[in-house]
Amino acid sequence: MNLASSLTKIRGVGERTAEQLAAAGLHTVEDLVTFLPRAYEDFSEVTTIADLKPGNATIKAVCQSISTRIVRRGMRVTTATLADSTGKLHAVWFNQPYRETQLKTGEEFYFSGNYEFSYNRYQLSNPSAEKVSDVPVQTDRLLPIYRSVKGLKPTLVRKLMHELRPLVSLMPETLPPEIVASERLVSYAQALMGMHFPETLADVSRAKERLAFEELFQLLLASQFNKQANAKLEGWPMPFHQPTIKAFVANLPFELTAAQRRAAWEILQDFEKSTPMNRLLQGDVGSGKTVVAGLAARQAHEAGFQTAIMAPTEILATQHAATLDNLLSPFGVKVGLLTGSVKGAARQALYRAISSGGIDVVVGTHALIQEGVEFKKLGFVAIDEQHRFGVAQRQELLKKSTRMPHLLAMTATPIPRSLALTLYGELDISILNERPKGRLPIKTKLWSPNSRAQLYKLVDEELAAGRQAYVICNLIDDDPNNELKSVEAEHRRLQNSVFKHRRIGLLHGRLKSAEKDAVMQKFAAGDYDILVSTTVVEVGVDVPNATVMIIEDADRFGLSQLHQLRGRVGRSTHQSYCYLVTSTSAKPTKRLQEIEKSNDGFYLAEVDLKLRGPGEIYGRAQHGELNLQIATLADTKLIARAQKQAKWFVENSINLLQYKQLAAQVDKYQRLTTLN
Ligand code: ADP
Ligand code: MG
Repeated sequence: MNLASSLTKIRGVGERTAEQLAAAGLHTVEDLVTFLPRAYEDFSEVTTIADLKPGNATIKAVCQSISTRIVRRGMRVTTATLADSTGKLHAVWFNQPYRETQLKTGEEFYFSGNYEFSYNRYQLSNPSAEKVSDVPVQTDRLLPIYRSVKGLKPTLVRKLMHELRPLVSLMPETLPPEIVASERLVSYAQALMGMHFPETLADVSRAKERLAFEELFQLLLASQFNKQANAKLEGWPMPFHQPTIKAFVANLPFELTAAQRRAAWEILQDFEKSTPMNRLLQGDVGSGKTVVAGLAARQAHEAGFQTAIMAPTEILATQHAATLDNLLSPFGVKVGLLTGSVKGAARQALYRAISSGGIDVVVGTHALIQEGVEFKKLGFVAIDEQHRFGVAQRQELLKKSTRMPHLLAMTATPIPRSLALTLYGELDISILNERPKGRLPIKTKLWSPNSRAQLYKLVDEELAAGRQAYVICNLIDDDPNNELKSVEAEHRRLQNSVFKHRRIGLLHGRLKSAEKDAVMQKFAAGDYDILVSTTVVEVGVDVPNATVMIIEDADRFGLSQLHQLRGRVGRSTHQSYCYLVTSTSAKPTKRLQEIEKSNDGFYLAEVDLKLRGPGEIYGRAQHGELNLQIATLADTKLIARAQKQAKWFVENSINLLQYKQLAAQVDKYQRLTTLN
């Protein structure tokens, strides 16, 4: 038997079992030995019922009686009497009715849970239960708990793993030995032994350290290789033409911030090179990324190239097209807009204008990557809110040129340094850490749902002064089973009561794009005083006269999302306000406290990363596919170690092909993380 062997080679695995395993994605011996436990149950310290003390405890007992009742709507409580030779004990589970079937067998179980005083008596709360006969009879009593994927029983996985134990102990090393030695890591075999058959928790943590290091190392090595590959590409050098840029800047209605100048300069220098630019422009909301992309597009045009700018929503693409047209048409640069709403003959005409070079800067949504779109000479691609796009979509757009165009990826979701390094290690990064002159920090306040009347008074004062307001809600329709506010009901309510005298617009994702545009345009033109909206306004929308935002049920939003939403105000020299109305008057969450305190997107990104982990935040598509099993991207120390070793590997030109498993993983990551 070897790693590539089918699981049917294992003693006791018949066709039915093999099918179950296959359904869970486990086909080969290798699949199984790399299927890692999600947790461990510690049975090393079993107490008797007579000796129990409050706190976490494990006992070995049988279940004497068990029953389930429904207490409130939907809440099922299962209670049981457990017994060992020293006494009896009450146990309780919430919403785990399957415990009845599991425990009725009369067999002996290990129960692990919190022994606590509750409802006037001591009880074991929500204990886990493992059949004693399923726990391996060994000195080690640290029981690995495997995920039960598609009904695959953790006990079966444990049994098979024991069959494979000799093979696991002989697993060949997968990392270069120099790295294992200098990082003082355990070997690959030791790591897998530590995961599947630990004797102590220290075994588990050494194993995890090694495996997490390996994942990060693979990821970082992939980005090093991407960077090398990029450096070998032949792109479109575009010489810097100073008079062009000077004229562009002189024509702006404002002065560029120092950060904008720096970013622009970095981009223009990249443009001059014959290797294509590969740059991420990170700037907090409202830091002015669009004009930087516009400046670069101006230079590309001067050098004889077309520009494509892709945005994730139609609202945003439309807004960018208008902004860029303002900035660029004075210089004879033709800007076009391509979205899903452009249909039929108009679309064909647009396609022709793009392919003949009649349009110089094409702004659009995903519509840009469709087959019919052909450029005459595409030299520069900018992708706004880049984390909203998958790798494949970015690649599709870049393929519209015969050589690799210069790429500027833009994001308003600041990425903590550690994460930028792992996710986008091959990118050069420009940062806009400065807001335009004269902007006051937004005043953010948590607001109790019971004192709306006062809030509306404050808002109305702003409206009376000529400003505009957003009201953000979570839902579109009314849902009788849901207490959260819907935009439709809120729109009705505000229009019919407190804000009778105001003009109120309604915006949500179910409107047709033309309708959405019409609403946005009216709001931008000042024809609405208030815009009641779902999070469709979240991305990039720019209406400087709007200075107030109310976010209803604010506790239902993520931290980064709140920060993005709030970024719709604070876009002019007027003082702006953001009121976070919570759905209950309960104590505000950590998220809400943090956002009330800080206007700094970079700081909030760090907090969010700690609170939620990176998967949720940074490009679902990318991160989901990365599928890190052990490593967390928040582990900056380990990332730094892995980065150092990845550099060493590349600098010493170690031959990757000697390490087959490493090479395969690096190849996978390279394809997932590359931006081009
Ligand atoms: P974001 O970085 O969030 O995409 P935008 O590009 O939408 O920001 O710019 C936000 C607003 O700030 C726009 O109205 C834009 O015209 C304005 N702006 C950009 N740069 C400056 C500047 N240097 N001074 C004043 N206003 C600026
Ligand atoms: Mg933007």
